[in-house]
Amino acid sequence: MTGEPAGSNEALFARAQAVIPGGVNSPVRAFRAVGGTPYFVARGEGPYVWDVEGTRYVDLVQSYGAVIAGHAHPRIVEAVTRAAAEGTSFGAPTEREVLLAEAIAERVPSCEKVRLVSSGTEATMSAVRLARGATGRDAVVKFAGGYHGHGDALLAESGSGVALLDADESGTVPGSAGVPAGAVADTTIAAYNRVPRLDGRVACVIVEPIAANMGLVPPRPGFLAELRAECDRVGALLVFDEVITGFRVARGGAQELSGIRPDLSCFGKVIGGGLNIGAFGGRADLMDHLAPLGPVYQAGTLSGNPLATAAGLAALDLLDAAAYETLGDRAARFGRGLQDAFDAAGLTARALVAASLVGLHLGPDDPVDYETARRTDESAYASLFHALLRRGVALAPGAYEVLFPGLAHDDALLEAVVDQVAEAAAEVARGGWPRS
Ligand SMILES: *Cc1c(COP(=O)(O)O)cnc(C)c1O
Repeated sequence: MTGEPAGSNEALFARAQAVIPGGVNSPVRAFRAVGGTPYFVARGEGPYVWDVEGTRYVDLVQSYGAVIAGHAHPRIVEAVTRAAAEGTSFGAPTEREVLLAEAIAERVPSCEKVRLVSSGTEATMSAVRLARGATGRDAVVKFAGGYHGHGDALLAESGSGVALLDADESGTVPGSAGVPAGAVADTTIAAYNRVPRLDGRVACVIVEPIAANMGLVPPRPGFLAELRAECDRVGALLVFDEVITGFRVARGGAQELSGIRPDLSCFGKVIGGGLNIGAFGGRADLMDHLAPLGPVYQAGTLSGNPLATAAGLAALDLLDAAAYETLGDRAARFGRGLQDAFDAAGLTARALVAASLVGLHLGPDDPVDYETARRTDESAYASLFHALLRRGVALAPGAYEVLFPGLAHDDALLEAVVDQVAEAAAEVARGGWPRS
């Protein structure tokens, strides 16, 4: 566009590594788990991204789920453009913050009140602080393989990119260097799909109601209801981390699907339409513990940013009942197609589907928790990833991420992807995988 040469991925990555640790601003982008050089995205449109060399990929990363309507959706572009022309940040309340909070509360009845923040990480950190402040208790329970952003107390035994770090490390608490033992002293780890026995010291249990950061691990029937009952037994709060599932798996998120009402919920990704946003909400009596009404402090210069609220409102507007039906139908068909492709290629792999989420597990059995999720063959994933990338299909460069087919991925496109997966899987199989 400027008339200058577009540059190459290699050249940009070399420059990036000189000034950005690992060349990336979020570790999962770095390709270290799959090998090779990351492609640098020049632009995206609908289901596609183009890298700086002009190569087009069918993008199943979709900003890890943040752009459910596809890239550069005209309605979202228009909303953001118009908002930008009116000013990008004020440090004073705006109407669209009210509209977005109302839109969330209307879709998710457990969220009587909502506070907007700037990322999913902020939402979960703030929700845990609020849970602690409101209950006067310190202990937090999370599930192994759950990812709740990179806040100190919640990094332990995390999925997503932390799982890849753990592969070389001991994998014990805390989940990162630089997190003092004291920061996780009150964090307890439980196994997903098993209900931990709680006691009266527990402020909250935080859970992904459909786990989507250790591959895809749906809750077994009864798990969330039993967790709700156990929390109630000891007066602990139940926090649903719906940063991925919120406004994606159903209009009211995973809590609508499961019928379980959490005390607090965390959102991000979809509700920003691809811009920086997060939110947490819940019972009004709990939310009113937040400053300025109560003693739990939480703040943010860019919270409820005018561009992000414009994009988020435009995204939610696109997500009517028909959209969720389409998303669910497509994901189901896509999952069946992927499973058939693996089976035909003779590869031991599972294509998992939960509502509109699709996950791959490169092993014989459906995972039920982190331990079983980690039985996925990471090197086979790397082979499959590259075999697909060569064919113009981009998965996330890590074995523990899910696939995000969205409104822009129509059936014809997903069928074409399935054909590419069939070829890629056969190629990986010819390479000798699975190894004994
Ligand atoms: C992505 C994610 C987060 C963190 O959100 P960021 O916006 O990346 O900080 C938290 N919880 C879950 C379940 C996520 O998938």
